[in-house]
Amino acid sequence: MALHEFDLISVGGGSGGIAIANRAASYGARCAVIEHDRLGGTCVNRGCVPKKIMWFGATLGHALHEARGYGYTLEVNGHDWRSLVEKREAYIRRLNGLYDTNMSNNGVQAIAGTAQFVDDHTVAVDGEHYTAKHIVIATGGRPTVPSVPGAGHGITSDGFFELRDCPRKVAVIGAGYIAVELAGMLRSFGAEVTMLLRKQHLLRTFDEMLRESLMEQMIDSGIEIIPRAQVAELKKQGNGLEIVCDTGTLMPGFDTLIWAIGREPATDTLGLQNTGIATDDEGYVPTDAFQQTNVPGLFAIGDVTGRAQLTPVAIAAGRRLADRLYGGRPDRKLEYTNIATVVFSHPPIGTVGLTEEQARAEFGSAVKTYQTHFMPMYYAMTDHRAPTAMKLVTVGAREKVVGCHIIGMASDEIMQGFAVAIRMGATKADLDDTVAIHPTNAEELVTMR
Ligand code: FAD
Ligand code: NDP
Repeated sequence: MALHEFDLISVGGGSGGIAIANRAASYGARCAVIEHDRLGGTCVNRGCVPKKIMWFGATLGHALHEARGYGYTLEVNGHDWRSLVEKREAYIRRLNGLYDTNMSNNGVQAIAGTAQFVDDHTVAVDGEHYTAKHIVIATGGRPTVPSVPGAGHGITSDGFFELRDCPRKVAVIGAGYIAVELAGMLRSFGAEVTMLLRKQHLLRTFDEMLRESLMEQMIDSGIEIIPRAQVAELKKQGNGLEIVCDTGTLMPGFDTLIWAIGREPATDTLGLQNTGIATDDEGYVPTDAFQQTNVPGLFAIGDVTGRAQLTPVAIAAGRRLADRLYGGRPDRKLEYTNIATVVFSHPPIGTVGLTEEQARAEFGSAVKTYQTHFMPMYYAMTDHRAPTAMKLVTVGAREKVVGCHIIGMASDEIMQGFAVAIRMGATKADLDDTVAIHPTNAEELVTMR
C-alpha cells in the first residue's frame, strides 16, 4: 500500500477546506484536499449559491408585481421553475470546475474519495494512505432529520434543491435561517406555505425587533405560521402527506414537507475513534482559538466545529490558520465576535453584534438603543409594501455601537459596511457625523435620534 506524504491535508473540499489548502499552497506548502462529492461543499452545491439564485428569482417575482406601480403593463404568465433549476445547476457545475482549476493552478492536489482516519497523522482513501504534519478536518455537516415515524417522507434543504417543480402546498418545519429562507422563497414562487415552529418565535436568537417584524411580514405575505407545534408523525396519504401534530391535530393535503430543524456535523464515519480527538456530545470537533484540536497537528475549521456556521467564517478560519502555519504570522487567528450575517428572507435581515437582550444582560443600564421604522420610498408607488426596521444598540457614555440590526429592502447589502464600522469600534456620534447618502434606506442608520 502506497503512502503519500504532504505538508497539509484538508479532509473536505468545501468552503473551509479549499480556502486553507489554496492559502497554504501560496506559501509553498504541499497540499491535498480530499473530497467525496463535488468540490465547493455545502455552500456551492446545496447552500448559499443555489439558495441565492432562488432568492433572486423570488425577489424578481415581487418586483414584477411592483413594476405595475411604476407604470408598467405586465402580464405574468407563471414561472418556469424547472428551467431556473437547470440553469442554476449548470452555473454550479461551472463553479465546481473553477474550484478544480484554481486548486490545480495553485498546485493543490484534489483527491476524490471518502477519507477515514487510520491514526493521528494518516487518513485512508480507497485503500491508499495519506499522511501530513498538519491535517485539517473540514467535513462540514448535513441536515438533521428527526426520528419521528414517517420522517423519511419529508425532505431537507438538500431535497429542496433537487425539486424539479415548485410544490403546491408545502410544510416547513423549523424556525431558523433555512426554514425562514425556504418558506419565503416558496411563497414568492406561489406555493401555499405552512410553517410549524417548535417554540413561539422565528429566529429565536435574533433581536426581538427583527423577529417580530419578520413574523408580521411573513404572515402578511400569506404564510401560515403555527407556533408551538411539533410533528409527531408524518403519514403518506395517497400522493400527499398528512402531519400528525403533537397536539393531536391532523394536517392533511401537503405535497411536500421540508425539515429545517438544524444541521449535524459530518464526523460519525470519519474514523475519529482511531485518533485521540475528543468530539463534544453532538459530534462537533472542539478547537482552541487557533483551530487546534486536542491532538497536536490536527485542526478543525468551519461547520464541523459548531461555531458560526457561515461560509466566510469557514474561509476566514482556514486562511488565517494557513497564515499562521506557513505564512510567518504566529498570532493569526479568527475573532468570532462581531460577525455580520444576513438572512435572505423577504425582506432580508442584516445583523451584527449583540441583540438588545444580550447587551442588557451584559451591560445593564449602560445600554441605550435607537430604533426607526419606516416605509421605504420605493413602496410609495406600489400596492405591496414591506416596511423597514432598524436598531442600534449602544453601550456607555460614549455610546459605542455594539449591535446593529436591520430588516427591510437592501439590508443584505447595507450591512457589510456597517459591520466594518462596528468592528472598528464606531460610536453613535461617529455614525451621526457621517454625512448621509440621500435618498437611500441606509441613510436612516446615520440619522437616528
Ligand atoms: P462544507 O462546505 O459543508 O464542506 C465540507 C465538505 O466535506 C463537503 O463537500 C463534504 O462532501 C466533504 N466531506 C465530508 N466528509 C468527508 C469525508 N469523510 N471524506 C471526504 N470528504 C468529506 N452560509 C453563508 O455564509 N451564507 C449563506 O447564504 C448560506 N446559506 C446556506 C443555505 C443552506 C441551505 C445551507 C445548508 C447552508 C448555508 N450556509 C450559508 C452555510 C454554509 O453553507 C456553510 O457554513 C459552509 O458551507 C461551511 O463550510 P465547511 O467548509 O465547513 O463545510
Ligand atoms: P438553525 O440553527 O438556524 O435553525 C434550526 C431551527 O430549528 C432552530 O431555529 C430551532 O428553533 C429549530 N428546531 C431545532 N430542533 C427542532 C425540532 N426538533 N423540531 C422543530 N424545530 C426544531 O439551523 P438551520 O438548519 O436553519 O441552518 C443551519 C445553519 O446554516 C445556520 O445556523 C446558519 O449558520 C447556516 N445558514 C446560513 C444562512 C445565511 O447565512 N443566510 C442560510 C442558511 C443556513 P427553536 O429552538 O426556536 O425551536
